[in-house]
Amino acid sequence: MKPSILIIYTGGTIGMTESPENGALSPVNFDQLSQELSQLLKFGFNITSISFDPPLDSSNIAPEQWKKIARIIESNYTKFDGFVVLHGTDTMAYTASALSFMFENLSKPVIFTGSQLPIGMLRTDGKENLLSAIEIAAAQRNGKPIVPEVCIYFNSMLFRGNRTTKIDSQQFKAFDSKNYPPLAKAGVDISYYHEFISPLPAGTIKVKSQIDTHVVLVKIFPGINKVILESIISIEGLRGLVLETFGSGNVPGDPWFAQLIKRAVLKGITVLNISQCAGGSVKMGRYETSRNLLDAGVLSGYDMTTEAAITKMMILLGQNRHPEEIKKMLNKNLRGEITL
Ligand code: ASP
Repeated sequence: MKPSILIIYTGGTIGMTESPENGALSPVNFDQLSQELSQLLKFGFNITSISFDPPLDSSNIAPEQWKKIARIIESNYTKFDGFVVLHGTDTMAYTASALSFMFENLSKPVIFTGSQLPIGMLRTDGKENLLSAIEIAAAQRNGKPIVPEVCIYFNSMLFRGNRTTKIDSQQFKAFDSKNYPPLAKAGVDISYYHEFISPLPAGTIKVKSQIDTHVVLVKIFPGINKVILESIISIEGLRGLVLETFGSGNVPGDPWFAQLIKRAVLKGITVLNISQCAGGSVKMGRYETSRNLLDAGVLSGYDMTTEAAITKMMILLGQNRHPEEIKKMLNKNLRGEITL
């Protein structure tokens, strides 16, 4: 039996063309994109495609579109061996992180990819990215998928989606995963690092599609203003606050800072501390400048990426669980997003 793959084309540079009027790039439909890829036919796989209409620049991809991708995968789950999602690079790490939390017991590969140059351009990185992503989505060992995870494949590297961040807007190496090793590398062959890939889950797939967007992300900087932070925590309906702090989780030591955060926690806002550093982990209490956050009831986001932290918060808050349970789950490694 030939492996069967569903390609979900959401948009992004991979399928864009330049406007003759102003030179701006915008997405075109999948038929045009697949014309560039006669190689797909040579694969020997059964390849089917579904396209967003209209295809989107990923700056316009938000929770509604995360749900749409999840629905497409859920309703086609038994028909295909693997899924490839073509997506703009700008928010790919957010969508991949969100989907990893939305799917419970995922047992098939969901491989995100895109490109820095449109597929119609001579020097494009899109062809290799797409062809290898398809190969990875179809890869099996002893009749079982090799990578039953939501991943990003880009520039020869396969990363766990919720460990990945966009690090460059110009180089072909657009993504990195600082706190977790790659799951595979593509050279002449694709080498899989089985020890880092999640095992197949025992249960059947479930999709969590309730998402609460009453959250905010605050990056701390020297000179952060009391009145401004106070007005943020006073926002009507705010339920989650992700603090991007210095180094291993540190914040300015002015007493008003910790008092405001404590006020937020007492109001029932869930506050999660992640680091601005691309690598390493939050260790609250290591320095005096993070002790007060610990005392205020702030949760550690350990070594989670910003993309994983904010999407995990939105999806957990969407689940109508008891606040204490949400806190426990935020601190738990749910989909390989945290090193504990
Ligand atoms: N603006 C584009 C997008 O994210 C960039 C890309 O695809 O690389 O849709």
